[in-house]
Order: sequence, then C-alpha cells, then structure tokens
Amino acid sequence: MSKTTRDGRTLRPRTEAVHGGTNRTAFGETSEALFLTSGYVYDSMEAAERRFKNEEPGFVYSRFSNPTVRAFEERMAALEGAEDARATATGMAAVTSAMLCYLKAGDHVLSSRALFGSCRYIVEDLLPRFGVTSTLVDGRDIDAWKKAVQPNTKILFLETPSNPTLEVIDIKAVADIAHAAGAKLVIDNVFATPTLQRPMEFGADVVVYSATKHIDGQGRCLGGVVLADQQFISDYLANFLRQTGPSLSPFNAWVMLKSLETLDLRVREHARNAEAVARFLEGHKGIERVFYPGLPSHPQHDLAMSQMEAGGNIVAFEVKGGKAGAFRFSNALQVVKISNNLGDSKSLITHPATTTHQRLTPEAREELGIREGLLRLSVGLEDSADLIEDMERALA
Ligand SMILES: *Cc1c(COP(=O)(O)O)cnc(C)c1O
Repeated sequence: MSKTTRDGRTLRPRTEAVHGGTNRTAFGETSEALFLTSGYVYDSMEAAERRFKNEEPGFVYSRFSNPTVRAFEERMAALEGAEDARATATGMAAVTSAMLCYLKAGDHVLSSRALFGSCRYIVEDLLPRFGVTSTLVDGRDIDAWKKAVQPNTKILFLETPSNPTLEVIDIKAVADIAHAAGAKLVIDNVFATPTLQRPMEFGADVVVYSATKHIDGQGRCLGGVVLADQQFISDYLANFLRQTGPSLSPFNAWVMLKSLETLDLRVREHARNAEAVARFLEGHKGIERVFYPGLPSHPQHDLAMSQMEAGGNIVAFEVKGGKAGAFRFSNALQVVKISNNLGDSKSLITHPATTTHQRLTPEAREELGIREGLLRLSVGLEDSADLIEDMERALA
C-alpha cells in the first residue's frame, strides 16, 4: 500500500500516519491538497469512455472516488496494515455497508450483544427485515460464539472494548471460530483506535471505524472507514458504495487525513490521562465501580493487555445514588462537558441509560451492566490534574 519510499521499504505505522497516501500535484505542496470537486473533465469522449470501462486509471465522479478521499483511504490502509480501505460519510455508514455489501437473504449474522446502540439496531432490527437472521451472544463467552454458529453464518461482528461497559473480547479466539465456519470476522475498532489495537494481526477480516471519534479527534467532522483485503473490497464493498452513495465529503476526508498525522500522539496521551483518572476514581469512596481495561481490577485486564497497547481513553464508572447521583455529579462538573460524543480532545461525559442506550429494554440494559448510576467518560487531552480536581469537587 505504501508509496512513500522509492526503493519500496516498508514503513512503520507511525510514519505511514504522516506520509501514507500522499500524491502531490505539480505544485509540490507540502500539506496535502483539498480537492473539493464532484466531477472530472476528460480530454476527449474517447478518454471518458476508457475511464468508464476501467481501461485507464483516473477519477470519474466523487460519489465513487475523489483524490482527497483516496489519500485518506490509502493512509488509513497503510496505518492499519490492510490491503485497502474505503471511506464513508459516517461510522454507521461504514458498519452498514460492510454488512449489506456481503450479506443476502437467508444468511445469518452472529454478534456480541455489547454494541454501540446503532450497531445493535443494524444487527437486531434492520438485517432481519431483509431476511438476514441474527443471534446476539455474550462476547466474552467463547463457547457461546461456538454454539451459536449456524451453517448459514456469514459474518461474526464485535466491538472490543465495548460501549459503554468496556467488555473485552478475545479477537483471536473469535477469528478462529469465524474462519472454521467459513465466515468473515468484522470488528468495530473505534474504542481501541488503530494506534492501540490492530485486529487484523489477530485474524480480523474487516475492520471498521467511526472516524468521527479519535481519528478526527477534535469533534469537527463525521466520517467512517472500512478496511479489508483487496478481494472483499473489489468483489463486494466498492460496487456497493458506488451504487448506494454513502460517500465521505472531500472536505471531511481532508480534515481526517491531516488528523491522522497526530493520531498516535493524541491517542497515547488520551490513554495516559484516562489511566490517571481511572486510578483516581477507583480509590474514591463516592464511586461504586470503575470499568477500565488498563486497570488490574478489570476482569479481563490480562486479555486486554495482550491485544491492546494501553487501556484507551474511555472510562466507565458507577456513582453512588443511581440516576440522581449520576446526574448530580455530572451537572457539578465544570471542565468535563456533558456530551454523548467521544474521542474528542475535550473530556465528555454521558449517562448511557438515558441517552445512547435508552432504546434498549431495562432487561437488555441490566444484561449489559448499564445501571442507573453508570457514567461513560471519554477522557480528553486536558491536564489530568484539572480533570481529577473537577471530579473531586463534583463528588464532594
Ligand atoms: C460512534 C460510533 C459508531 C458510529 O459512528 P458515527 O460516525 O457516529 O456514525 C459506531 N461504533 C462505535 C463503537 C462508535 O463509538
């Protein structure tokens, strides 16, 4: 994928995040150009004909491809170590396209039940309307995955660590089950980020991101990306995206492309801050429980550390006093802002039971450990001492 060295040396992911996908114009600009164009002109009718027949390389229409969007895709693929990538308008467009391009009526999808709310809607509600059945399992239970595989299972889908209670799933074990069944393993790697977890090294076939989160990292643009081998993209995904049109805007692609240059730095600092905050919360008497994969108290700490470089930037915790306690605490915060977004340089806190997961039945929430006192904190890039002081005050 890399085009960055003339003698074909393979570069490390951190270098790819800075240089990957660069394709300079004749002006020799240092920073990547932004191609805000929906269409392209051809030298002749013959040239247009050749482009449409795929007989010569080049861009045809920005619903299918655009130089800035392509640069973002190539940089993401180089960073992830994937053969190729396709960008989408949002993270949900990435998840939905990765599923719909590959599935047909009569197929079965097997998924972990602890999912981002909209992902769970796709698996549980949307796919069955089109004849694709689905089963949700406790993703931590490897036997449960094995038992739920059916002859028509085509996709296994999971998110690790999961939203919002940060359950960790053994990627390698689930990849082996998927491959024994002739199915693809699709991973939503948003919480871990490409910096801290590389699912393809553990056997994942397809990795999806909401680029809206840490990839942009500053809460500006929506975007998504699907990474896979060339065959999955050429045979299934590319044409699906071309015909259905969930395309990423070139402007957003440019923002994401430039943000990738600082992703590694930001994510590692996010994780350092989150660990400090998690340790503080764990030691506080006003806190019932803390969920953070980077803490030894996390039930799957060892597994988390075997597939992640650090615990990530999301910390979940239960405050005493249920919903009222959680609301009172959150309303008293001054540095941490109340928002359901995550992966931003600003620290953001949300109450999953009444926002991101309010669509679920109380039983489904209980099953996922989403209690009334649970809060999800996306730790930002502020000074962790200010974050801790802010929470200390709010707890008092
Ligand atoms: C935000 C998010 C999504 C959806 O991404 P959008 O860009 O908001 O569409 C999917 N999965 C996870 C884990 C997320 O956090």
